[in-house]
Amino acid sequence: MTILVTGGAGFIGSHTCVELMNAGHDVVVIDNLCNSSEKSLKRVEKITGKKVVFYKGDILDSDLLSKIFKENKIDCVIHFAGLKAVGESVHLPVEYYDNNIGGTINLVKEMRRADVKNIIFSSSATVYGNPKEIPITENCPKGTCTNPYGWTKWMIEQILTDVYTADNDWNVVLLRYFNPIGAHPSGLMGENPSGIPNNLMPYITQVAIGKLDHLNIFGNDYDTPDGTCVRDYIHVMDLASGHVAALKKVEKGSGLSIYNLGTGKGYSVLDIVNNFEKATGIKIPYEFAPRREGDVPQCYSDASKAKAELGWVAKYDILEMCRDSWNWQKTNPDGYEN
Ligand code: NAD
Ligand code: UDP
Repeated sequence: MTILVTGGAGFIGSHTCVELMNAGHDVVVIDNLCNSSEKSLKRVEKITGKKVVFYKGDILDSDLLSKIFKENKIDCVIHFAGLKAVGESVHLPVEYYDNNIGGTINLVKEMRRADVKNIIFSSSATVYGNPKEIPITENCPKGTCTNPYGWTKWMIEQILTDVYTADNDWNVVLLRYFNPIGAHPSGLMGENPSGIPNNLMPYITQVAIGKLDHLNIFGNDYDTPDGTCVRDYIHVMDLASGHVAALKKVEKGSGLSIYNLGTGKGYSVLDIVNNFEKATGIKIPYEFAPRREGDVPQCYSDASKAKAELGWVAKYDILEMCRDSWNWQKTNPDGYEN
């Protein structure tokens, strides 16, 4: 199949391009590079030995989307393009709603015009809010998000659900990611955060390489086994293969489907520090700091639906996730810019 990957130069998008191409699909990417580098796509080509068709541009640009659908026979869209910084979204809500929701509506309009009715969307466990059940199944009700970024995921899920309700010819797969970390095992591709990272793993790897002095652990008085927050960390290559599995489902006619993509295992912040030290031999100095606003104590998946219906399970363990995150950081201390 030929897949249009929006946001394909980004962290998850670029790794998914590799898995799609390794599975025999052709890939067309649209990305405005607002949070990524075209070099990631060069690495995709280096790893796969195949060409990526790349359009530098914005999903808000209808003319460009229309041109892409005319120039390529797209079978399915995998939609990663979006802004994702939780803290920034609190200060720039209009920009987040405009880019993420406006961009998606524009994309869906152009898909409809081109009669492409298959879409796989990057959603997030954030739509569960403070989850009503742990581990979280897909039946857990969506909750109250604590920031505009989360609400964009919540609302886009609703929009795509309504698109399906209005026209059952659509196949809509909503993938709710848990916490993606790790990097391509070659060390050629990984996460490329700009500025000081907000997320735990890139913060730890930057402490490990000496760019940052120590890790602040946000809260050690939660009602969890060691008092620090528990999350479901998943290797980005597992997440990427989850999209290839979802695509097979789309080919057969998925209708409207929702899947958690997680490992089903919860690790605390201290577990991550300990596993990182074990995997790399590097000590991570840390201090306990106040809780971070909006954090929920525990969030981990029940991943059995994806296993039963997509035949997909996460394969990488936590030590491999730490190893690959570090391998990427140490061989590319300045991300794609070196
Ligand atoms: P990323 O920032 O690395 O990738 C997103 C890509 O989209 C970037 O390359 C960016 O340049 C591009 N982009 C943004 N707005 C665009 C626009 N209007 N037009 C064209 N391109 C645009 O982020 P990622 O971590 O790879 O995340 C991919 C998707 O998965 C996002 O939608 C994100 O919200 C979602 N997600 C990420 C996580 C996570 O922890 N990384 C968790 C859950 C969901
Ligand atoms: N965290 C931390 N220090 C940091 C970054 C994150 O203690 O510098 C904690 C955060 O409070 C949360 C967990 O690590 O409990 C995962 O945070 P991240 O931002 O990576 O993902 P989230 O689950 O918030 O999407």
